[in-house]
Amino acid sequence: MSYQLETRCIHGERNIENKHPYGAVSAPIYQTATFVHPGVGHSTGYDYSRESNPTRSELEKVISSLEGAVDSIACSSGMAAVALCLELLESGSHVICSEDLYGGSVRLFQQAVKSRNLTFSYINTADVRAVEAAVTPQTRALYIETPSNPTMWVTDLAAMRALADSYHLLLIADNTFLSPYLQNPIAFGADLVIHSGTKFLGGHNDILAGFVCTAREDLAQKLRFFYKTTGPCLSPFDSFLMLRSLKTLAVRMEAQQKNAAVIARWLDRHPKVKQVYYTGLPEHPGHELQKKQARGFGSMISFRTDTEETARTVLSRVQLISYAESLGGVESLITYPMLQTHGDVPEEVRKALGITETFLRLSVGIEHVDDLLADLEQALG
Ligand SMILES: *Cc1c(COP(=O)(O)O)cnc(C)c1O
Repeated sequence: MSYQLETRCIHGERNIENKHPYGAVSAPIYQTATFVHPGVGHSTGYDYSRESNPTRSELEKVISSLEGAVDSIACSSGMAAVALCLELLESGSHVICSEDLYGGSVRLFQQAVKSRNLTFSYINTADVRAVEAAVTPQTRALYIETPSNPTMWVTDLAAMRALADSYHLLLIADNTFLSPYLQNPIAFGADLVIHSGTKFLGGHNDILAGFVCTAREDLAQKLRFFYKTTGPCLSPFDSFLMLRSLKTLAVRMEAQQKNAAVIARWLDRHPKVKQVYYTGLPEHPGHELQKKQARGFGSMISFRTDTEETARTVLSRVQLISYAESLGGVESLITYPMLQTHGDVPEEVRKALGITETFLRLSVGIEHVDDLLADLEQALG
């Protein structure tokens, strides 16, 4: 029997060999580029750190355990992980994506249109029929985020799997927003799960990292080949930091979403807040679906203020909460998606999605909730 999730954050699977020299409790940092061969044709299991490194391997095993993957590949950033996945697609392939995807992914895909002859359709993947209608004979993959960023649409993972089966598509899910503590897309049929480890997995706004987790051995082999060939690998030291971060993933996620639930309800009642996007609110259109496919609602809240002036005032007045890009850490951050994360999304697309001058996104940390509410109260004025 497998350990519970909280235990696996710290120890990985029961059968992972994580005994270290001298009885060290934490993973040693194997800060080495290369490894001595014991003899001709012999290997210690490690030859060169671009391909694999013991500190990184231990981290990858813990991530695989958390996501239920056959293999997980630790990359130097979330974008490096997304780029690695694109290597699986042949020239001429068409991909259907969620329409309010992370802005950096949209920028990479726009580049791939030119450099790799890939095409992308941006569809509200919460609408299963719209996704099916967008399938063409060239479609090879569905690329989704659920909940989406920043407008929090919830996509039905099982329905996406059914479509992927009907049309022989790869199902790729970016699970950054919930982390494996709250959602496991592989359990619903995803072939690949992507993480920006920079966010909840790292959790302290201090490391960049990314992961590609695979449910299929054949995909793992292909990805490992591209990985050792192009070298987007996570360093031994950052792998160590990430292992250290993961030990507290469960307690951080619990504390963050507890704060977020209180803040979402508070914002919902504030006269200068016109709309709150948080999947934990019962009136959110994705609330029931999220309950079916995830173990919680996470700690990302988007909201719309009454005027552009209010939004800009909030950003200039927050003191405890930092006005900064990124999310998922113990420090609360507030973002202006229009100018920051989604600045590269074409204006008409952004407007259609509702990412306008009154739209703000809050990543709730683990500070005391009363301090966060007091900061929002003075900032909203
Ligand atoms: C941040 C983010 C990425 C990119 O990750 P980096 O670590 O910043 O390269 C990809 N997807 C989502 C959903 C993100 O939030």
